[in-house]
Amino acid sequence: MSTHSVQAKQRAGEYVQSISDLLIDISHQIWEQPELAFEERRAHDLLCRTLSEVGLETEPHAYGLETAFQASAGTEGPEIAVICEYDALPGIGHACGHNVIAAAGLGAGLAAASMAAELGGRVRILGTPAEEGGGGKVFMLREGAFEGLDAAMMIHPADHNLPTLTTLAVHCLKVHYTGVASHAAAAPHLGRNALDAAVLGYMNVAALRQHIRSDERVHGVFLNAGEAPNIVPMAASAHWFVRAATTQQLEELKARVVDCLAAGALAAGCVMDIEWLDPAYSEMSDNDRLLSRYQENAELLGRPFADPEVVGYVMGSTDMGNVSQVLPTIHPLIAVAPEGVSIHTPEFAAFACSDAGDRAVIDGATALAATVIDCWLDPL
Ligand SMILES: [Zn+2]
Ligand SMILES: [Zn+2]
Repeated sequence: MSTHSVQAKQRAGEYVQSISDLLIDISHQIWEQPELAFEERRAHDLLCRTLSEVGLETEPHAYGLETAFQASAGTEGPEIAVICEYDALPGIGHACGHNVIAAAGLGAGLAAASMAAELGGRVRILGTPAEEGGGGKVFMLREGAFEGLDAAMMIHPADHNLPTLTTLAVHCLKVHYTGVASHAAAAPHLGRNALDAAVLGYMNVAALRQHIRSDERVHGVFLNAGEAPNIVPMAASAHWFVRAATTQQLEELKARVVDCLAAGALAAGCVMDIEWLDPAYSEMSDNDRLLSRYQENAELLGRPFADPEVVGYVMGSTDMGNVSQVLPTIHPLIAVAPEGVSIHTPEFAAFACSDAGDRAVIDGATALAATVIDCWLDPL
């Protein structure tokens, strides 16, 4: 590392420290009022207001999404995106800690923006809604939000500092079965039972699970299972997630799942309709060079990566995977909770607004800002 870059990163760190109260306050405000996918209006407004008050060119409601935004700084040189997520989960609030992602992304973006002109780089701060199922980044990708970028990065809360989320590609579906209603006692032979079709489909998938790869997942719930026991259910539906290590592997598994669900319909004499939900999430493909830069910067803050072989992988799916298929991207995990406290639990939600969560905001912002500077001074 050159002295120039060490000094620039140090100043970025000092900048983040100087706005630490603001960043932590924003993290807490978003945490206190959790908003679901595509409904993150308060978080969107709060982040946009903060960006424009600092004087950044800010575009609210960007790329055709009400709760997406973009802000940018710099006029020449490599252009790097830092990502803010801010959606919560139904029932358990910020149990994925996206309030920490938002505040860390904001802090990194502001620190980088304050030095962009001087260092000859550009930064784009992207507010990406609906990571938890809505796929905001995929829609933003289609609308050009990531065009012209040299790299994109974000941090994600976890119970360890880890290089990445071990991701699976995922495609979700809703299956609707239609049968024939009839009186369940007076004329059962005239009925065709849509609930039977759904249950048989479910059981077929349960049998399939014994014969899929260890990194594949299929899991579902019933959405509609009939109206009353004395009416043969004429409609039933289920919601399934199908996951595999790669998009290609996923296509093979999807075909097998459809066969299972269709066999249920065939057995029960019902009609099946499958609705694939847009968008599918791709697997994450981390850029090694970018990741090693982040790793070095995080280590300087006392956050060396744990070995996932030892502490365990954090599995999941993210729309950042789709971004990573298009440009150099990283999605490192930052510890906000003690070992063993899993994301998507009420316990994790509490840690996302704790001292540890606040430290992750500041360290995450600092490490991301330093990594942006690396990309400016020594393009990937
Ligand atoms: Zn999550
Ligand atoms: Zn998350």
